[in-house]
Amino acid sequence: MIMIMTIIIIIKRRILKYADYSKLTSPELLNTLEKNSSSLLAITCGGCHVLRSIAQGTSSEQMKTAKADIETKLHKKKGKSFVNEFFQDLQKYETNDLTVDEFYDKLTTRYFSNLQIGSDIESFNMLLPILMCLMDPERRTTLHLRFLREHPRVLTTCCRKEHWYTITIITIITIITINNITSILL
Ligand SMILES: [Zn+2]
Repeated sequence: MIMIMTIIIIIKRRILKYADYSKLTSPELLNTLEKNSSSLLAITCGGCHVLRSIAQGTSSEQMKTAKADIETKLHKKKGKSFVNEFFQDLQKYETNDLTVDEFYDKLTTRYFSNLQIGSDIESFNMLLPILMCLMDPERRTTLHLRFLREHPRVLTTCCRKEHWYTITIITIITIITINNITSILL
């Protein structure tokens, strides 16, 4: 009797912290990274018919304000340890120790349940400070895209025109059979 055994392995890739890799990267390259991430969120505005990005930028100053805003909101709910817990999870998301889905689930079920209740625009205003805490453009855009899966209605920044943002998601899962594992190990 032949037994076929299939093992599904999902590997979490760790991501270098922006604070670390940005020191070793040229400003031009960082700028390109920001532009490329921003282009993932580009839509043609129905008002002025220009291709524009709805990506949210950030800066050290904006991040400081956003952190204070989040701290106040969470402290009111459950105190200092709750605030610390959130920022630890944010750090885990930055290095992909929490995947975007895991982090987003925590945001909506534990920290900011209102993200699921309000209109898409109201919910985005709630997400905004969290995006601003992410200096890494890839992490920021990934979280924004995850949010848009649940809240596809967006306003363009130029004309405040409402659009429906559609995303096609391709999930790649590596399926390795026991035979493949043997051949990989040998
Ligand atoms: Zn416009």
